[in-house]
Amino acid sequence: MKNHYETLGVASTATLEEIKKAYRTLALKYHPDRNHGDPQAEEKFKRLAGAYEVLFDPQKRREYDDAATGRAPSRAEPRGPFGQGESAPAEPDVESMSIDEILRRFGGIFGGEFGESIHRTRGAGRPGHDAEVELEIDFRTAALGGKVTVSLSGAVPCAHCAGRGAIGDHPDCPTCRGSGRVTGQDRDKGQFFTVTRPCSTCRGTGVDPSKECPQCHGEGRIERTRSLTITIPEGTANGAILRLGGLGGAGTGGGPPGDLLVHTHVRHDPVFHSEGNDVHSEVQVPMATAALGGKTPMQTLRGRVNLTIPPGTSSGAQLRLGGQGIRGGDHVARVMVTVPGDLTARQRELLEELRKSGV
Ligand SMILES: [Zn+2]
Ligand SMILES: [Zn+2]
Repeated sequence: MKNHYETLGVASTATLEEIKKAYRTLALKYHPDRNHGDPQAEEKFKRLAGAYEVLFDPQKRREYDDAATGRAPSRAEPRGPFGQGESAPAEPDVESMSIDEILRRFGGIFGGEFGESIHRTRGAGRPGHDAEVELEIDFRTAALGGKVTVSLSGAVPCAHCAGRGAIGDHPDCPTCRGSGRVTGQDRDKGQFFTVTRPCSTCRGTGVDPSKECPQCHGEGRIERTRSLTITIPEGTANGAILRLGGLGGAGTGGGPPGDLLVHTHVRHDPVFHSEGNDVHSEVQVPMATAALGGKTPMQTLRGRVNLTIPPGTSSGAQLRLGGQGIRGGDHVARVMVTVPGDLTARQRELLEELRKSGV
C-alpha cells in the first residue's frame, strides 16, 4: 500500500499549497461525478481524501511522519496534546466514510466545480443559463418608468412534465442510473485512461427513454418564443442592466431557471436630455414676452405646462420647474428668445420707436 505522499504524488517535503494542489487535481480526476459507478475510482478517491486529511493538518502530518520514521511512541501510548495515557478523541477514519460524507467534508476544495454533487439529485438536474437581451427604450419610459414587452426565444420549463423530463415514477435511466453520463476505459499511445461521455441510452438526459415526457423528449424544457412584460424602473440610466430572477433559460432535469439580464439602451430624445435626476430642454420665448414677462407653453415629461417667464429674461436663462424631473428632480428649461424675421409695417414702426427710446 502506498504511503500518503505517494498517494498524492508529492515529495515528503511538500508545502501545504503543493499538497492542496495535488489533492485537488487528483480528486477532480477521480471524482465520482466523472467516474460514475467505477469502484476503482471510488476507492482511489477515498484514499486521496484520507491522505489529504492527514497531510493537510500539520499536527497529524507530524505524527504521521514520526510514525513512518520510527520515532513515534508505540500506538498504545498516545502522546501529544492529550498527554500520557489519555486517548485522543476518536477521529472518524476518512477512508471509511461514504463518498457523500467525503464530498460534504472536502467539497469546498473543488470551488463549486462539483457543487451539485453535494445534493446528489438526478445527475441531469442543472440550473438554466442566464439569458441576455438588449432592450431599446425611449427616454420618457426610462425616466418615468413603465412597462415594455419584449419577445424572447429560449428554453422554458416543459409544462407537461413540470420540468422533470419524465412521466411517472422511477424515471431514472437504467444505463447511467440517472446521471446522464457513463464512464469507460479508453487508450491512447498505450496509456489507459477513463473517459466520461453522455449516456447514449438517454442521450444525457438521465431519463429512462420509456418514461420520457413526450412533449420535451426528456429534456424537461422546450424552446419557445415568449413574450415578457418587463417593468422599467423610474430613472433607468442608459446602459443599466436589469436582472430579472428566474426569467432566464430553464434548467434541465428540474434544475432552477437562470436569470434574465436586460441591457438597456435609452434612445436619444430630440427634446429632452437628463443630467442626473434633472431633465433639460429648451423653450422658445417670443422677444416681447422675454422682455415684459408672461407665460409660454412648453412640454415636460409629464405633459404640457405654461411656463412663467419673469420680465427681462434673456436667452440662456435657466428656469426650474421643481419636481418635474426624474425621481423628484427638476425640469430645467433653457430660454431661447426668438426674434421675428418677417415684420409687418406696424411692428417695424414700434421697434424703431423702441430703439430710439434706448432699448
Ligand atoms: Zn416534458
Ligand atoms: Zn442514461
